[in-house]
This record gives sequence, C-alpha cells and structure tokens, in this order.
Amino acid sequence: MMTDRSGIGLTSQRARNRLVDLLREMGISSEEVLELISSTPRHLFVDEALASRAYENNALPIGFGQTISQPYVVAAMTQVLRETGPLDRVLEIGGGCGYQSAVLARIASQVYTVERIAALANRLRSRLHELRIANVRVRHGDGRLGWASQAPFDAVLVAAAAPTMPKALLEQLSIGGRAVMPIGRQGDQMLTLFRRTEDGFEEQPLQRVSFVPLLDNVD
Ligand code: SAH
Repeated sequence: MMTDRSGIGLTSQRARNRLVDLLREMGISSEEVLELISSTPRHLFVDEALASRAYENNALPIGFGQTISQPYVVAAMTQVLRETGPLDRVLEIGGGCGYQSAVLARIASQVYTVERIAALANRLRSRLHELRIANVRVRHGDGRLGWASQAPFDAVLVAAAAPTMPKALLEQLSIGGRAVMPIGRQGDQMLTLFRRTEDGFEEQPLQRVSFVPLLDNVD
C-alpha cells in the first residue's frame, strides 16, 4: 500500500508540473514552495479512487464531510508564513488527511497538528509514518485551544474557517510569530494574516477563500 511515491499517468511528474505552472500563474512566486508542491505526493493523501484527480487544483473529499485543501491554498498559506519570518515550530489546526502537514514538515523543524475527528487523526498519524515523516506530532482534540504545552510557536496555520481567530491560538504565538486563518462564514471568508508584535497583534486581510468550518464539538 501507498508505496508509489512518484506516481504514474495522472499522478505523474508531468501532472504535477502542470499544477505547479498553474499555481505560478495564480501568483505563487516562491520557488521553494512550488518545489514542495511538486515533490509532495498529494495522490497518497486521498482515496485511491480520487488519486487521478490529486494534481488538479481542487479540494477533494477525505471522508467525514471534510476535504483536503486546494493545492493553491496550501501553497499560499505556506508561502505567506515562509516569507514573514522563521518557521521553526509550527502549529497546524485541522490536520485532516495530512497533506498540509507533510508540506509544512519539509520547511519547519517541528510541526504540531491538532485534528478534531479521531478517525482522521489516526489515519493522519499512520500515513505520515508510512511516508517516514517524523517531525509531525498529531493530537486528537479541539484545535481552538491550540497546544499550550508546546507553545510558543513561530507560526500557526488554521485550515478551517471561523468568524473570529481563537484567542488561545494568538496567545500561543511567539513575539514576531504569525498566524494565518480563514475568517468569516460559509461563502464569505477572508484568509487573514495575524502577527504578534511587542505591543499586541496586527491583522492583515489577504484574499477571499473557501474552507470547511472550524467545529466546536470533538468526536
Ligand atoms: N490541512 C488539511 C485540511 C483539512 S480540512 C488537509 O490538507 O487535508 C479541515 C480539517 O479541520 C478537517 O479535518 C476538520 O476535521 C478539522 N477541524 C475542524 N474543526 C476543528 C477543530 N475545532 N479542531 C481541530 N480540527 C478541526
């Protein structure tokens, strides 16, 4: 299972290169981030039946009513965190299938990811293990609380939308730390960059996006 890292046909390097060209046209300018997208095997993070669509720029279902984020959005969030400061310790909220975690793992020293659906958290753990990605710690729980015992973080990436940024996540940023999160309700979300300064927090709207909601009950 899941040994075909390089991919064939629609999961081949050619399909990935087409995706990278598209992301470049859409404004992803960091060659480092484009290389991460090109070399991370997204087809291994979705159901086999969907693997042939893994290098299209679309969100795809991963079960439990959740989706793997669109490659463009993964690239844009990774790029903004990369370009605004250090990425040593990174907290991800909404690990889902683990694709964004795998991308972050390549540029961060240590990634902490919180996922509220137990089955997804378990699958994420075993998938990262199979791919020999060893610098991601996975926790099943409510990501709105962050991961206090591992704080502070240089960066926080939230992969689900809410009307406001959870306070605990801002509090777990180091000074100079950044957080990126889709803010708003379904159909009206703005990807927003937060930065912790010596004096408080700055906030900058980036672009309109569409994410699944950040949920409050944990199963
Ligand atoms: N980064 C993921 C995107 C997954 S979609 C990927 O690349 O696949 C968003 C995820 O957020 C879902 O898996 C959902 O279960 C999770 N989520 C929603 N609310 C959450 C919460 N309060 N705490 C932690 N995870 C949450």
